[in-house]
Amino acid sequence: MKFITEFRRSELAEGLISQIHRQSKTPVRFMEFCGGHTVTIFRYGIRQLLSKTIEMVSGPGCPVCVTANADLDKAIALSQIPEVIIATFGDMLKVPGSHSSLQKVRANDADVRVVYSTTNALEIAAENPTESVIFLGIGFETTVPTIAASILQAEERGIKNYYILSMHKLCPPAIRALLDSGEVKLDGLICPGHVSAIIGSHPWEFIARDYGIPCVVSGFEPLDILQCIDMLVAQVENGESKVEIAYRRGVRPEGNQQALKLMEQVFEPCLAEWRGIGEVPDSGLRLRKEYQHFDAELAFDIDPGPPYEPKGCICGDILRGVKTPADCKLFGKACTPEYPVGPCMVSSEGSCSAHYLYGEGFEG
Ligand code: SF4
Repeated sequence: MKFITEFRRSELAEGLISQIHRQSKTPVRFMEFCGGHTVTIFRYGIRQLLSKTIEMVSGPGCPVCVTANADLDKAIALSQIPEVIIATFGDMLKVPGSHSSLQKVRANDADVRVVYSTTNALEIAAENPTESVIFLGIGFETTVPTIAASILQAEERGIKNYYILSMHKLCPPAIRALLDSGEVKLDGLICPGHVSAIIGSHPWEFIARDYGIPCVVSGFEPLDILQCIDMLVAQVENGESKVEIAYRRGVRPEGNQQALKLMEQVFEPCLAEWRGIGEVPDSGLRLRKEYQHFDAELAFDIDPGPPYEPKGCICGDILRGVKTPADCKLFGKACTPEYPVGPCMVSSEGSCSAHYLYGEGFEG
């Protein structure tokens, strides 16, 4: 199955759905960690196709959504420094921080530029040697290797006005924190495909071993998700808990060694704050000592002030899987993709945006 259309074939989907219905006897709650999976599940109405025994909950796997307001406020404070250019992926623009957003400060003359890659950001730095270019490092393990590579390129080319504000997050420690909190009981985890393409499937083994929760790494097409759910159901019904891969075309158990080496050369784990989950040890990344001259937080003196959350927004609870967008009083009323109150409505991978666009929980 090489082509996307083959992963959307309805007759194959029907076969998998029938198999899931036949197989699933035990009531279970499965979480899809990744926002990309959430979108596929809502877009193709997968929740409604499953047997009544299966409850699906969304997890914290949207990098924009889990970025804490304290970090967003730092990015906004940096944008206020004269001769600073903020380079960012577009999905960060509308995310509201405590007092403003990058979009609003840009409208007030801050130099905030949308880039499509770190190469773009590096070129802006090379072309503007009298200004400082700060790239907003948002994302999970998937995006870190290219950002690490940009640091090495800047070093090699002698570009001294390029900086990173590292807000990266590592997924396995956050899952452990979520499970340790005991707030949400899970019977299976759909592990993120893109993250696993980098880190492999081994880092998820503690979930099966220590918590007895079946895990399957999934791709992003509807058939990928259905196959993954089928494999999770099979583990539950057979009384097993192990890590399997339903995304062999993208993921190897050992991951991408070259990318991991690059990450490790430039970054080291550190404490990070996740929206909704709080501070999680070793779930963030900071530049290693040899590369600290690229660290925007060390290079610039900023005081963003104390962060606060938008009133009435329950993004934090949604990201922990304990509430759904339908539980939010603002959903579809004061908060819409056009006028988002919280990050889960801004990001294309956010649960609120997926619920709004594809129906479930929208009451008009
Ligand atoms: S609907 Fe809006 S306000 Fe409510 S949780 Fe989602 S993003 Fe926050």
